[in-house]
Amino acid sequence: MVSSETTNNVADELDTLLLRLQKLVVDYVKEGQNADNAVVRYYSPEDLYKRIDLALPDSGAGVDGKGLNHLDYDRLTRLNIVETFDLIKDTLKYSVNTWNPRFMDKLYAGTNPIGVVSELLLAILNSNSHVYHCSPVLSLMEIEVTRATAQLLNMGKDSGGILCPGGSASNLLAVVTARNKLYPSIKSKGYMPRPFNADADYGVLKLFTSSHSHYSIDQAAQVLGLGLDNVVKVPTDDEGRMLVSELERLLQESVARGETPFFINATSGTTVMGAFDPLDKIARLAKKYNCWCHADGSWGGSAVFSDQVTRTKDWFRGSDLVDSFTINPHKLLGVPLQCSMLLTPHNGHVMFARTNSIKADYLFHGNAVDLGAATIGCGRRPDALKVFLAWKFYGKQGLGQRVDRALCSASEFMDLVRRRRGFILVKDPCPFLQICFWYVPESIKDQVDAWKSQSDGGALGKIAVVTRTIQQRINHSGAYLVDHAPLPGVPDFFRIVINAPTVSVDRDLVGLLDRIESVGNDVNWEKIFEQ
Ligand SMILES: *Cc1c(COP(=O)(O)O)cnc(C)c1O
Repeated sequence: MVSSETTNNVADELDTLLLRLQKLVVDYVKEGQNADNAVVRYYSPEDLYKRIDLALPDSGAGVDGKGLNHLDYDRLTRLNIVETFDLIKDTLKYSVNTWNPRFMDKLYAGTNPIGVVSELLLAILNSNSHVYHCSPVLSLMEIEVTRATAQLLNMGKDSGGILCPGGSASNLLAVVTARNKLYPSIKSKGYMPRPFNADADYGVLKLFTSSHSHYSIDQAAQVLGLGLDNVVKVPTDDEGRMLVSELERLLQESVARGETPFFINATSGTTVMGAFDPLDKIARLAKKYNCWCHADGSWGGSAVFSDQVTRTKDWFRGSDLVDSFTINPHKLLGVPLQCSMLLTPHNGHVMFARTNSIKADYLFHGNAVDLGAATIGCGRRPDALKVFLAWKFYGKQGLGQRVDRALCSASEFMDLVRRRRGFILVKDPCPFLQICFWYVPESIKDQVDAWKSQSDGGALGKIAVVTRTIQQRINHSGAYLVDHAPLPGVPDFFRIVINAPTVSVDRDLVGLLDRIESVGNDVNWEKIFEQ
């Protein structure tokens, strides 16, 4: 075995590796800090295969067949490390540098130094937070950080929660919990609704969520065997907020058909537009119809750290009334991927454990702080440490200021887009941190103008092609990474996410508009439309 595990030198080896890595990664962060550097050196999968050695060897990583005395530690590090570090360098070189503020493609951004330290700490500990006796400190941190966050949402003194591997996983656990709590027989006997089973105390179970909500709600319905057809999509207003009157109408119709509505998902910060559904009104309807009310705040939930937001916006009005709430600190708070919390006012992780746990005497020995019992997993990463340390390091105020700064830049950027010729905001003002707009190049302005009256389907298709073509050229150039999206009945538009605290309006965002414009004017659109 070519490994220092056969020697007593692991600490020395780690020291050597870390010292070498430190220089590489600090240089990498410096490269990302200079926004003019490429966000990515983009290659197609075929070309990337040619540039990186992805073959996995039979013996000893990269020792070049020169032979190796397994116990010769100096030689091991000398030979092995060169090869390994070549691969590490290539990994950095061809990856997306999220430290660059021009990475605006997704809802997460680069992390920060304390984020890196927290990941390193988790790697060193290699702890598993399924049972307390394997992760005593980390389990308590999880209990405290979920309780403190739930209290920001005014969930009260019995509130708390559990960390899950991502927002989709948190949402799934919320749906499982709702089902088990409202219809416990399903946990043991399986799902057998009326009319197929005349004795059942429930009809076909129905989930309600807005047409702008995240697909993880649909995913949960299919995983649980409830069926995608039983997810009812509630229409939204033109800002993307769920229409409560429509929700009530759809609930009534469902009940009249003999079905059983059981789960209503409100979104706090939708993925494309950033809309916040009215939690208070939705939670009241949920109570009236005996449904579990969940808020998917995977994206927008972190805004609750900002005092300015909670003072001046109604985004979290009613957060004390929901049964569960998802927040992803790995998106808006810069905590490293992955870090997602599922919070509840009903007795925190204890409620999740009581509702979902399976008897496993070989793992769980009855300790109430065995957090794994609350989830549908077994082994789990103690991701709570990362948000706990970020909170210690920056304070609630620091985290809130990150949100405020992003909101301020988003608002300035929105003004720029609004004023600039050829650019059209999809919704003015944008509800949150995603600036959504079309760009119409001067040369095709006349063709596309018809689209604004929504009468010309051909023009609708053209504006989507323009968006996608420009986006792809910009992303492949590596100067920026940005995304586009459609919405039901709305052709593809640019969705620029303002998140990284280092983003500069004058340098990065004006530069982006310039680039969209110049690419748009370079393209021969007639030729593209013909294809
Ligand atoms: C990102 C997102 C999710 C999914 O979170 P993951 O951590 O990527 O699984 C769910 N809901 C909303 C509204 C999101 O924006």
